[in-house]
Amino acid sequence: MKAEILSIGSELTSGQNLDTNSQWLSQRLAEIGIHVGWHTTIADDFDDNIAAFRIASQRAHLVLATGGLGPTLDDLTREVLAKVAGVELTFHEPSWQHIKEMFARRKRPMPERNRVQAMLPAGAEVIPNPRGTAPGIWMQIGNARFACMPGVPSEMFAMFNDWIRPRLEQMGFAHGVRIQRKINTFGTGESHIEEKLLDLTRRDHVPEVGITASDATISLRIFGSAPTREEALAQIAPVEQTIRQRLGKFVFGVDDEELQNAVIELLAAKHLSIATAESVTAGLVCHRLGQVPGASLYLRGGIVAYDARVKVALLAVPQALIDEHGVISAPVVEAMAVGCRTKMRSDLAVSTVGLAGPGGGSPEKPIGLVYVGLAWDGGVSSSSFSWSGTRMEIQSRTAKMALNAVRLHLLGR
Ligand code: AMP
Ligand code: MG
Repeated sequence: MKAEILSIGSELTSGQNLDTNSQWLSQRLAEIGIHVGWHTTIADDFDDNIAAFRIASQRAHLVLATGGLGPTLDDLTREVLAKVAGVELTFHEPSWQHIKEMFARRKRPMPERNRVQAMLPAGAEVIPNPRGTAPGIWMQIGNARFACMPGVPSEMFAMFNDWIRPRLEQMGFAHGVRIQRKINTFGTGESHIEEKLLDLTRRDHVPEVGITASDATISLRIFGSAPTREEALAQIAPVEQTIRQRLGKFVFGVDDEELQNAVIELLAAKHLSIATAESVTAGLVCHRLGQVPGASLYLRGGIVAYDARVKVALLAVPQALIDEHGVISAPVVEAMAVGCRTKMRSDLAVSTVGLAGPGGGSPEKPIGLVYVGLAWDGGVSSSSFSWSGTRMEIQSRTAKMALNAVRLHLLGR
């Protein structure tokens, strides 16, 4: 049983937009044990679509297509399906009613062209689209089942989750479940992490464990594959336990959790507040904390002190300290944290300075050199690191480093 994914649209083949639908659909199919053999991306061209649909109908048992169901002339999927299946397009009254209702609800006049969205290949089944006008199409061509969905990701997600996945399970296409558990770590390198887990990451280990690095966050992915969800989870649990034991404080969260989620959770548990004083990260630490729902209970605010004069004026950093050590230094970043804590009346304050580049480096202070400071009721500390990367990477990683410093401090309290 092999599946093929067809992505349709000249905006994809031209390189203007990235095909994220194939990635998402492959991940969902993997979760229900369906192997994807091919990803095919096709421009809005009738003959090219005919060829691609024909090939897919011959080699795959399941074909998931997205795009080309809109009302415009370049939306060809309905005609292509009819042609490849050798059937006529027929008018589907319930879909027409749905389209008219969608326009009425949005209080927009309906262009006559939208009528084509109610045309379906004879013998096809409609996949309801609660989020948009274009109905999806389910039909068999040769040995292959085709599910055609709109390209708009939110519409496609809903149609797959609500209709297609249950249909695949019902038809017996799904072979067990594959569940992924992501363990997120920060503070050390990929090779150091791997060294501690060599027995788990070897190729034939069950369950499979993989390492990925993204913007200095190193994640372990555990893949449980089993006939049922419970069995897959049971495969994952002991491996997660082992990883957590071996990696200790490097682990900050699971799945979609970011460092800021961990920080806000710890601040909540310990009833503490925080503020930020940022130079090199220009507000990124504060921004990320503010992304966490409920942050307003713990986040006092932030001061973006980019220029040295602002560090002096708003954070009470002594000018003499800057003259003696330079801005990119431990004493200055610590003074920023102390000044911020006083100004904001917060329990903790975290600060950043550094060189994000690309210009302005020197042999003593190279691009990527950053300092992070932390002040609390009992004192102040700082740490430094030398990142490599682009300006944005250095800023983002320094923000993570600052959040991690707060996290480690809170864990130790
Ligand atoms: P369509 O259904 O062809 O009218 O596509 C509508 C919109 O959905 C496009 O303009 C894209 O923004 C988006 N889209 C279409 N195909 C994809 C895809 N494979 N991945 C991500 N976005 C897509
Ligand atoms: Mg299109």
